This record gives sequence, C-alpha cells and structure tokens, in this order.
Amino acid sequence: MTSELRETGGEVREEAAEQWTALVATARRSVADGLVVGTSGNVSARVGDVVLVTPSGVPYDRLTPDDITGVDLTGRQVLGTLVPTSELPMHLAVYRTTDARAIVHTHAVHATAVSTLVPELPLVHYMAAALGGPVRVAPYAAYGTDELAEHMLRALAGRSGCLLQNHGTLTYGATLDQAYDRTAQLEWMCRLWLTASSVPNLTPSLLTEAQLAEVGERLKGYGQRR
Ligand code: 13P
Ligand code: ZN
Repeated sequence: MTSELRETGGEVREEAAEQWTALVATARRSVADGLVVGTSGNVSARVGDVVLVTPSGVPYDRLTPDDITGVDLTGRQVLGTLVPTSELPMHLAVYRTTDARAIVHTHAVHATAVSTLVPELPLVHYMAAALGGPVRVAPYAAYGTDELAEHMLRALAGRSGCLLQNHGTLTYGATLDQAYDRTAQLEWMCRLWLTASSVPNLTPSLLTEAQLAEVGERLKGYGQRR
C-alpha cells in the first residue's frame, strides 16, 4: 500500500479492502454466469478518489486480498503492484463524468453479436428503461485506447450502459451489484432481440420512446417500496 493511501486513514483502507473482496466476487460471477471467457472483460469500483480495478490479464480465480490494485482518477497507481486493466481510459472516463461507483465490462456473446449488426439495440423490451433508454453502440476503436473511451462516453450519454462495436458491453451503477445486474439485463435483451429477429418472415414489434419513458417512471416505484 502506498504511503498516500495509508495517510488517508484506516476507514478508507478498510472500505477499500471490503470493496476489493466484492469486486473479485463480481468478476468471478461474470465468468461463472458465462458473460466472460478467460481474462476478457474487467471490473472496477470507486472508493473515495481511489478506483479499484481488476489487474490486466490475470484469471479472476487467482486473485487474493493481497492483489488489491488501485489507481487515482488520473490513472496513477496508488495501490498494489499488478498492472491495472488495459481499459483504464474507459473506466476513468466514466468516473470522471458520472456518479458511477462501479463499472462492469464484458465480452458477453449476444451483446457483442448485436454490436456488429446495429447502431442501437432495437426497443424489443421495456427493460431498456432500466438502462436509461435505447442502448447505443459505440463505434469501434482498438481496446485500451483513449479513442475507444471517447466513443464509449458519447454512446453512454444519458444511459447507464452501452455496447462497444465488435467488442462487448459496459455498464455502471451505484454499486457493483447494480452495475452487474445491468450487464446481465443488457445481455438478456440482446439475446431476446437476436432470437425474435431470427424468425423467418416475421419482424419483432418494437416499443416507442413514449412507452419506454412511461416504464422509466414506473420503475422508480418498482419492488419492495411502500
Ligand atoms: P484486461 O485484461 O487488460 O482487463 O483486458 C481485457 C479486455 O476486455 C480488454 O478490452
Ligand atoms: Zn474488452
């Protein structure tokens, strides 16, 4: 641990250690659920001004509490010795411009397939509202580049998730669980559209933006609220 984080006090350190455990669990879940193969994809979580990230190219089942890896919002490493994910530009761009506390990036197969077919996921299901509206596809750029981060940020405007052309998904949330659930919903919606649009001679019906906006309002009261 660098002296800088040591100086920020025990509480931040404890929260960082807890979040690291949760981050590793989320990364492992993405593999177990089939959203990620091998070391593709990455996960991050923000603790104060420190961003915990999965290290580049390390299988998630090998990560231990000692492997905690963190950078500041400029990308300078402040925790650990493993090389941070190559997608730092994307993760940092989201933290700098939104209230995100966690980000999940995957190469989920149905979502990636959709990213090669359309510039926006057609409105086949109302759960698009849970991501802020119709999910856009960020134009292709090589992984790990600032160019990809710029394209991603544009596609993400007003949304909590987007597709990356010929690459995968990115979603963010207030918690790791929320960011993860949004990825799972996005992958499910992409699978739904591919399934419905694969039926010969038939075309899926789509929702209007007005219908989606109505659901956006309803979802604010969804679940165990009184
Ligand atoms: P990292 O192993 O560097 O996180 O890269 C995986 C990836 O998905 C790049 O887009
Ligand atoms: Zn990737």
